[in-house]
Amino acid sequence: MRTGIFAGLAATALLASGAHAAQKEAPEVEARDLFKQVVEIPTVEGRGEVPRLVKLLTAKFSAEGLTEISVKPHGDTESMIVRWAAEGPATAEPILLMAHMDVVEAKRADWADDPFIFREKDGYYWGRGSVDNKAGMTAIVMSLIRLKRDGFKPKRDIIVLFTGDEETAGDGSRLAATEWIDLVRAEYALNSDASGGGFTADGKPLGYGLQTAEKTYRTYSFTVTNKGGHSSKPRPDNAIYELANALTRLESHRFTPMLNETTRGYFAARSEQETGPIADAMRRWLADENDSEAADIIEADPKEVGLTRTRCVATKLNGGHADNALPQLAQATVNCRIFPGVEPAKVLAELQQIAGTGVKVEQSDSFGASTPASPLRADVVGAYTKAIHKRFPGMAVVPSMSTGATDGVFFRGIGIPVYGVSGVWLKIPEDARAHGLDERIPVESFHMNIDVWEDMLRELAG
Ligand SMILES: [Zn+2]
Repeated sequence: MRTGIFAGLAATALLASGAHAAQKEAPEVEARDLFKQVVEIPTVEGRGEVPRLVKLLTAKFSAEGLTEISVKPHGDTESMIVRWAAEGPATAEPILLMAHMDVVEAKRADWADDPFIFREKDGYYWGRGSVDNKAGMTAIVMSLIRLKRDGFKPKRDIIVLFTGDEETAGDGSRLAATEWIDLVRAEYALNSDASGGGFTADGKPLGYGLQTAEKTYRTYSFTVTNKGGHSSKPRPDNAIYELANALTRLESHRFTPMLNETTRGYFAARSEQETGPIADAMRRWLADENDSEAADIIEADPKEVGLTRTRCVATKLNGGHADNALPQLAQATVNCRIFPGVEPAKVLAELQQIAGTGVKVEQSDSFGASTPASPLRADVVGAYTKAIHKRFPGMAVVPSMSTGATDGVFFRGIGIPVYGVSGVWLKIPEDARAHGLDERIPVESFHMNIDVWEDMLRELAG
């Protein structure tokens, strides 16, 4: 899942990438070649192709002497763990590097070209997964290979976790954080599947994100039952009306606005990028956390929606059984994205209160635990900012909270901080195509991401 708002392309960088495509240097040829192979394995749920990617990556790591590899089958997919042990006595706890190998379904008929045939065109690499998350996965592989060949000696273990079902069940990460924890325990994790940078179409920088928090995913059912009867004799109580009234109350309900260290940093940076009423509202809210009127103005902005509080929304509906019968059952599905650290039980209680006593509210689905924002560690923030500034001096690097959930949730849930970091930049909104059609990554951005990972690892593990 990739949900950061920063995802973009400078006009100058686009021009440079055109020249680049003509003459690549040897390391770039190797990275492009691996990326091509990786994108062309269609690791969609149910196709059984993840093991083929695991074999390819196992061979790639092994050829460089990185042979401490565990392949973990689960369900009809696989995850893999690779450890590069510290050379000499470790002077710090391990760090964990995360990516996922699976991709969202892509249909040939819907795309301009075959989503699983890699192509380079117009300064972009095209294909399903080219952004989410095969660019990040390839950058982790290539940066480690380059460091190894360069004689780099890590002072701490570097552990790699590549999961095989992030886009669906999320079992790879869940199992890693529980059953396989001894293989992956780390001081903190860097997740390539979040953040990155953005530029507008005319090259104005939008900044880079640093994901430290994600909202909690919970789904609830609203159920109303009724005796029913003949529709020619309507009763005063009706399951459909009662449910509809509950949903109307939910529509107008606003959860209490909240801030944490991450969103404070985010809105402080955003208030400087914006002008007018929205910037005023951000400043007002930061000055007074209880100014819910200011928070409501921010929440109403499509760019900020979901960032100020818990949000719940009706997503499915069913009810009744015949055109000429009073409904005996009416049911709605309500999906919630809960603010980090808020107990889902509290949200359930609030929903029940909104729905009223005639409506039964129950949790019907969940993903991960409710986790607090990871603290903004100076070493991680510093290494990431330095690597970005080396390429884009003065670029804003802004803490960010994902409104969706990623593999990171399971590690935050056991107290291992997770940082979504990525050197990938996209042109916004043109290139924001993760999970969508004709997914692509600027050629320059793909190669720069490898350099960013190499720099970060030199700093954090050297
Ligand atoms: Zn992803």
